[in-house]
Amino acid sequence: MKVAVTAKGKDLGDQVDPRFGRCPYFLVVDIDTMSAEAIENPNLALGGGAGIQSAQLMAEHDVSVVLTGNCGPNAHQTLSAAGIQIIVGASGCIRDAVDRFKAGSLSTIQEPNVASHFGMGVVDTPQPTATGSGTGKGMGSGRGMGMGRGMGMGREMVSTGGAAFPSTPTSGSESDVLKAEAQNLEVQLHAVNARLEQLGSTAAQRRLMAVVDAGTCKGCGLCESICQVGAITINSVAAIDTAACTGCGLCVVECPNRAITLQKA
Ligand code: SF4
Ligand code: SF4
Repeated sequence: MKVAVTAKGKDLGDQVDPRFGRCPYFLVVDIDTMSAEAIENPNLALGGGAGIQSAQLMAEHDVSVVLTGNCGPNAHQTLSAAGIQIIVGASGCIRDAVDRFKAGSLSTIQEPNVASHFGMGVVDTPQPTATGSGTGKGMGSGRGMGMGRGMGMGREMVSTGGAAFPSTPTSGSESDVLKAEAQNLEVQLHAVNARLEQLGSTAAQRRLMAVVDAGTCKGCGLCESICQVGAITINSVAAIDTAACTGCGLCVVECPNRAITLQKA
């Protein structure tokens, strides 16, 4: 199971950041192996919509649970729509927070625990892991020309979800080796296509799009004017072109009547 923790740094030993949409990193932890991948948060300086965009990011990374300090209404709605469990109140060292979650001492919330725009104006810029200063100047020129032909037996260029491939013979005539190589590439291509299909269907299951509550919409047209892909038209109330909507969440943030939410497609 993948758990995303809002983080101040890139490692399990770093601290939990209390903000969901505006944390510097998300540390995605596989709780079975405790391996972790740090994702830099591109939304931390957004004026609005950071919670929605960050929730989308979690859905794209196939996260099952979010562990954070606080969660506002837009992020809560979007995470819930994507089927992601939300746990607030996490603090301290990330590794300890994950351990507490595994032990069942942190519980899911059904409602947001802070107002919109919580954490806005407090911007932590992700820090590089090493610092230094210096000056330098370089200049170079070169020219190269070459001809040749090579045969390589390289592998492991593409992750195909653990598929195993037959080995290529390293001896025999050049044409035998090339034929074997061609067969192997065909097997790889099949595995890669199968994996792509699998990933595509996961993404499709996770896709979010805007949904209008016709009873709440006042037909003001604001959402139509801000949608960057022309997915909204007004016909007394707003209507969404589901094929065009990218689930960016802009209209959710801007609607003055809170008539739009993101829902699973
Ligand atoms: S901004 Fe809100 S109220 Fe205005 S048309 Fe869009 S959904 Fe309706
Ligand atoms: S979520 Fe984004 S793309 Fe979809 S209708 Fe709203 S503004 Fe347009």
